[in-house]
Amino acid sequence: MTAHLSALASDRSRLLVATRSTHKLRELRELLGLRAELIDLDDLHVPDEVVEDGETFETNASKKARFFAALCGLPTLADDSGLEVDALNGGPGVRTKRYAGENATDEDNNVKLLGALDGLAASRRGARYRCVLALALPETRGPRGGVPVRLTHGTLAGRIATAPKGNGGFGYDPIFEPATEKPGGRTLGEWTTEAKNRISHRGKAAQRMHRILAELGF
Ligand code: IMP
Repeated sequence: MTAHLSALASDRSRLLVATRSTHKLRELRELLGLRAELIDLDDLHVPDEVVEDGETFETNASKKARFFAALCGLPTLADDSGLEVDALNGGPGVRTKRYAGENATDEDNNVKLLGALDGLAASRRGARYRCVLALALPETRGPRGGVPVRLTHGTLAGRIATAPKGNGGFGYDPIFEPATEKPGGRTLGEWTTEAKNRISHRGKAAQRMHRILAELGF
């Protein structure tokens, strides 16, 4: 096993993205633009799941990156992201994906959020997307023997629209108006992928992670 891991230590040709979200994988491929091939958990037929029970995006991203790096013996990048809504005191936060229930669809989540903010003026509909990327290299060890992670962050400020618009992006994009739009302006669901990537929370976190990955030879 040690020989197996050390053989992988200098392998910078593949980067595992600890996700099953085809949307996140596609965005990260475009955003990182690496020489290395980005593969996901389904490419490796890995059935294991990590319970995302941390109270911060940082905790959950680190947990996913460490777990799958150790399990698969590959350099691993994890994305934990979500939406913080001012009127919900920063919620749903780490529970963004499951806001309307364990198996909620994007549409269920959007409907629930629009209902929760029903009747609120634009000035009280402020929100931001947050993204934390965590990178774990299985061959490295911290002072106490654990796998250390490198973290990068990005945020995108905006507000929640009063009704869904547009079919682009994923998740909450049809009801998220970036702060550069006037109230009632275009949601991210109406932006092109390229335009979203230039300003998005994931775009900013990925730009910062790209520098780290490039230094490491990916
Ligand atoms: P998790 O990181 O797997 O816990 O899920 C994050 C959730 O946040 C996703 O399922 C989406 O609902 C939402 N989310 C994160 N980033 C975006 C984005 O760029 N657009 C829309 N929704 C997002």
